Amino acid sequence: MNKLKVKNLTKIFNGKLALNKINFSLEENTILGVLGPNGSGKSTTIGILLGLIKQTSGDIYINDTYISKRNRLKFLNIMNFASPYTELPKRLSVMENLSIYARLYNVKNIKDRLEEIYDYFELYDLLGKKTGELSSGQKTRVALAKALINKPQILLLDEPTASLDPLVAEYLKNFIYKYKKTNNISILLSSHNMQEAQRLCDKIMILKKGEVIEQGKVNFILDKYKKKKLEDVYFKIFGEK
Ligand code: ADP
Ligand code: MG
Repeated sequence: MNKLKVKNLTKIFNGKLALNKINFSLEENTILGVLGPNGSGKSTTIGILLGLIKQTSGDIYINDTYISKRNRLKFLNIMNFASPYTELPKRLSVMENLSIYARLYNVKNIKDRLEEIYDYFELYDLLGKKTGELSSGQKTRVALAKALINKPQILLLDEPTASLDPLVAEYLKNFIYKYKKTNNISILLSSHNMQEAQRLCDKIMILKKGEVIEQGKVNFILDKYKKKKLEDVYFKIFGEK
């Protein structure tokens, strides 16, 4: 089943075309990588899916239901999001942040769910600390706790390892891999790190200047380009002027 489907999604910012009629779907229990260089439209795609940016045209379906203004809020509760570019409020404590997000996402039995998530991410020692004072590894755990607080069916990750040091990035990649293995979740993950994409993604789509120029299973794309690494596919596509 498609958890998410996008038809002819287009975004024009002040006369500039950022997304040009893109089509894709995210299936159940799948990680779809949205790949492409800076400015190719990855964050715009995610922003539209989250309702933070209004598309110029095009349709979004979640669980096969057309998303309109009227039903969008209901569907936001089954999604969640993480990106190093949008940090959690720094002056709030870890506990305050997670409690607020639990309410925002309409989590049922908030107290139980918070305890579950504190346990799961070993957050008890951090609960009273201001989020802005945490180390990068601690922030990553808290960001994951926030991203999973509502047990989302669809998780959107915008360049999740960008700006992380290699050890923390490794923790995060392992976490995503294991979490997806043991939970039924559909993840849309944007990245310009091809090694990361090859390790984590079942399918990918490659964006170039707002257009989808390739999409499919990772092995299908590798075969098509007769390469073993997505990195080499990427160089082939973007390296030539
Ligand atoms: P990516 O995330 O792949 O780096 P973006 O989705 O951020 O790319 O950007 C796609 C294009 O849209 C770029 O040309 C960018 O400059 C433009 N863009 C993104 N956000 C805005 C905005 N708020 N106003 C104007 N142009 C924007
Ligand atoms: Mg971006």
